[in-house]
Amino acid sequence: KLPQGPLLQAQNLTKAFGGLVAVAQVDLEVRPGEAVGLIGPNGSGKTTVLGLLAGTLKPDGGRVRFLGQEVTGRPPETLARLGLARTFQQIRLFPSLSVYAHVYLPLCFQDAEKAGGQAWAILARVGLEEKAHLYPASLTYLDAKRLELARALALSPRLLLLDEWLAGLNPAELQQAVTLLHELQREGISLLIVEHLMPAIRALCDRVYVLSFGEIIAQGPTEEVLRHPKVVEVYLGV
Ligand code: ADP
Repeated sequence: KLPQGPLLQAQNLTKAFGGLVAVAQVDLEVRPGEAVGLIGPNGSGKTTVLGLLAGTLKPDGGRVRFLGQEVTGRPPETLARLGLARTFQQIRLFPSLSVYAHVYLPLCFQDAEKAGGQAWAILARVGLEEKAHLYPASLTYLDAKRLELARALALSPRLLLLDEWLAGLNPAELQQAVTLLHELQREGISLLIVEHLMPAIRALCDRVYVLSFGEIIAQGPTEEVLRHPKVVEVYLGV
C-alpha cells in the first residue's frame, strides 16, 4: 500500500567541499509511485545530492524526510531499513561471490529458507535466474547492472535511487533496462533517476529536476522542462 504524502522530501539541502559549494539549497520531492529524474551537466551536483539523500554524505544545511520521518544525516543502513536503496555509478560487485550470493547475503539475517526464496524471486525479477551460479567476471555488462539492481532490491525498497544505472549500455540493452525499471515502478517502487541519457529520461520520468552549479534551475513535467530555454542553454553550454 502506498503511503500518503511525499515519500521523500528534501528541503534546503546544502553541501560544500572546502570552499566549493557543490549543492546549494536544493528542494526536491518524490511522491509515492513516481519516477523522477535528476539531470544536469557534469559536476552540477547530482551525485552529491544522491549521497545526501542516501545518507552517505552529511549535509551542511537543510533536511531530509523519508516517509514523514526526519532522517537528515542518518547512515545508509538506517535509510535502507526504512526502504530507501541506491545503486552506485561504479558497479560494486565481489569477484569471489556468485551472483546468487550477492543477493542472498543481504537477506541472510532472516530464516535461511525464506532468504533463499526471496533471493531466487529477486534474481528472477531482474532476469538473472539462469545465471545465479556465475561469478561477476563472466557476466555481460547488462547482467552486472542487473545484479547491482538486484542487490538494491534485496532491501525491499519503496524508493530506489539510481546513479547513472543506464550508462554504458548498448541500444538493445538500454531498451531492456528501461522496461525493467518501468515494471518496478508499476509494482510500486518509486524511482529517483540520475541520468545523462535524455531518451531514457523521457521514457521513464514523469517529472525532472535540473541542476546547474549545485542549484535547481528548473523543474516540472519532463517534456516541458527539457524544452525550457534555461535548460537548453545549460546543456549547450552557451
Ligand atoms: P555530478 O554528479 O553532477 O557530476 P558531483 O555531485 O559529482 O556532480 O560534483 C559536484 C561538484 O562537487 C563538482 O565540482 C565536484 O568536483 C565536487 N565534488 C564532489 N565530490 C567531492 C568531494 N568528495 N570532494 C571535493 N569535491 C567534490
